[in-house]
Amino acid sequence: MRRALLLAPVLLAAAFVAGCGTGDSSSARPGAIDVVVTTTQLGDIVRAVGGDAVDVHQILKPNTDPHDYEPRPKDIQATAGARLVVVSGDNLDRWMGDVLDNAGGHPAVLDAGVGRPVTLPGEDTGPEASRFDPHWWHDPVNVEYATARIRDALAEADPHATAAIDAGAEAYLAKLRTLDTGIAKCMATVPVAQRKLVTDHDAFGYFAKRYDIDVVGAVIPSQTTQAQPSAGDLAKLTTVIRREGVKAIFPESSINPKLAKAIARETGATADHTLYGDTLGPADSRGATYLSMMVANADAMVHGFTGGAQGCSVAGL
Ligand SMILES: [Zn+2]
Repeated sequence: MRRALLLAPVLLAAAFVAGCGTGDSSSARPGAIDVVVTTTQLGDIVRAVGGDAVDVHQILKPNTDPHDYEPRPKDIQATAGARLVVVSGDNLDRWMGDVLDNAGGHPAVLDAGVGRPVTLPGEDTGPEASRFDPHWWHDPVNVEYATARIRDALAEADPHATAAIDAGAEAYLAKLRTLDTGIAKCMATVPVAQRKLVTDHDAFGYFAKRYDIDVVGAVIPSQTTQAQPSAGDLAKLTTVIRREGVKAIFPESSINPKLAKAIARETGATADHTLYGDTLGPADSRGATYLSMMVANADAMVHGFTGGAQGCSVAGL
């Protein structure tokens, strides 16, 4: 009896680990391609493309800030045994460099966003260490590009699985196009003059460019969450919010909403609609996958821009 009681928590813990879908080696399918990915978005895309042909170790868990992650020993262990490592790039996950150095082994490394078709004007001139805005996945056109590169890298890692990988990529690319068309249709219902975006940090430049939204400002006026706004920055932001008649400030799921809420109170804007900026949400949230996260963001923005009069949903995903 006593032994059974002692065993129970261990079994529960094992069930939890097996159920969280991170593809740890204990659940590996024989012959599957061991892939290590850094971000939640990349994990989702690699699983969508690779299906049963891949076993994904996703380093970042939902709602974890990628700008500020300390790699764990198990990340190094997984990387040591990986055939492919997929990174997001542009300094977002630069900590992966240390993981690769410490892991040894000879995985192929794919920087998924390098050479992407959409870049932002002036993004190589800012004060950031990175030359480019690292949040490229907020434009589905860039994700189509990354999907094609992930497909090719997986097929190279296991040529026998090419047919399944091609089929997975084809289906996912079709969904990305449905997503893009659907969000564009939603935004078209909001007058351009009302599409004024204030977020927690400067992560939505790509989304804004794609769907013709004016980025008015950010609580943390930086492309990394590691910067601190000065009192002057915040005063400037409240002035701009009042001048532009901004209706909503959008907190982000992986950032403390305290400052965003304080500025909303001061300016009369709402801060009721949270965006997924740097990370997907947990499995039971609207941000569980890349596709649902993008729709959730569009829905939040349309609600915020229209004072709650409209929302956004996309069929066929
Ligand atoms: Zn970010």
